[in-house]
Amino acid sequence: MADLHDWLTRNAETLDQTETLNDEVLPALAAHGCFRAGVPLTLGGEPGLHGDVRDAILGIADVARYSVTAAFVYWGQRSFIEYLLQSSNSALRDRLLPSLLDGTLAGATGLSNAMKFLSGMEPLSVHGTANGDGWTLQGKLAWITNLRAPRFVAAAAVAPVDNSTPLVAIFASDDAGVERSANLPLIALRGSNTAAVQLDNVAAPADDIIATQAPEWLAHVRPAFLGMQCGMSLGLATAALEKAAAVAAKGRGQLSDDIAAARQTLAEHTQQLLDGVADGRFVTAAPLMFKLRIAIADLVQQAVTLELQAKGGHAYLMQEEDGFARRWRESAFIPVITPSITQLQAALAKHAATQ
Ligand SMILES: Cc1cc2nc3c(=O)[nH]c(=O)nc-3n(C[C@H](O)[C@H](O)[C@H](O)COP(=O)(O)OP(=O)(O)OC[C@H]3O[C@@H](n4cnc5c(N)ncnc54)[C@H](O)[C@@H]3O)c2cc1C
Repeated sequence: MADLHDWLTRNAETLDQTETLNDEVLPALAAHGCFRAGVPLTLGGEPGLHGDVRDAILGIADVARYSVTAAFVYWGQRSFIEYLLQSSNSALRDRLLPSLLDGTLAGATGLSNAMKFLSGMEPLSVHGTANGDGWTLQGKLAWITNLRAPRFVAAAAVAPVDNSTPLVAIFASDDAGVERSANLPLIALRGSNTAAVQLDNVAAPADDIIATQAPEWLAHVRPAFLGMQCGMSLGLATAALEKAAAVAAKGRGQLSDDIAAARQTLAEHTQQLLDGVADGRFVTAAPLMFKLRIAIADLVQQAVTLELQAKGGHAYLMQEEDGFARRWRESAFIPVITPSITQLQAALAKHAATQ
């Protein structure tokens, strides 16, 4: 891992501010076995501390300490892998898993719209018409990350036009009717291959269906999806608090108690997240996980603020820049990752009203 940490340290700014390493980040992560974390050994996984998705959460957190862009690519790829692990379509899993694990194929997750749909916030943006052997897809995914050349596969939730139960299907970049936009001009995370995708009469045969019953399947996969996203926050908060503590230790001691308290809270939230993902409680008690995701996002804001306060005016000096400005920009992404804090608050309010 030291090699990967070195690579990330050298390239974190480039990954955040340019598209020059778009092609390199996925292979760099794959070369260190990242996508095998938490995958069963029989399916090509690597042994880890827990042997399940918790290893991927911790792996993403580890990468996010150095670069949230790289952690986000890791999240997209590993989430797609998780969908296959949790799919009953074993033929699809066997077909795609080896090239996803070794990073020669990129996997993208277009499920933010689906997660909003699950919380009753918006309709699905991809529609499907049954065509005898599966579905014909039509629609648009406005934001989707890890759309790496030369070829990617992506997952989307599909609303059948006959109003039957939504499903989750995959499509590939070389399928007829798939049109990827240019990379979106982002203020940060620019090395993440994030673009929009238009689907025009794209064939999704039965072989390419991840789940025939999207609501039930999405509720089941959501803890892993959300848990891995929280991994980005955990890593970023860890990095900012490490920097804050290092500065405070050199004289700005006034903040030491606040920094120590934030680190303690971070450790507690991490444990709650790992325990909840492991014991399945977040499947049945989604509000518990939503509250934890909000608390972890708050902690990220607190952590970067503590880093800023510990450094004071020095945080503004170019010659003393050590990644603070990037972490500050990266932290702006945390509240808007699906499900965004706004979406979670709306879902919690709705839940409270039904109690
Ligand atoms: C860099 C980047 C990469 C991304 N990558 C992916 C990806 O790989 N896969 C993916 O699926 N998504 C991706 N997204 C999408 C991301 O997850 C969305 O930003 C997220 O869903 C937030 O949605 P939103 O913009 O509607 O903001 P929200 O925080 O949900 O909402 C903003 C405001 O709009 C209101 N609002 C939201 N929805 C509605 C609605 N339906 N009707 C009325 N008001 C509404 C809210 O109440 C709030 O006031 C990416 C986004 C970014 C910035």
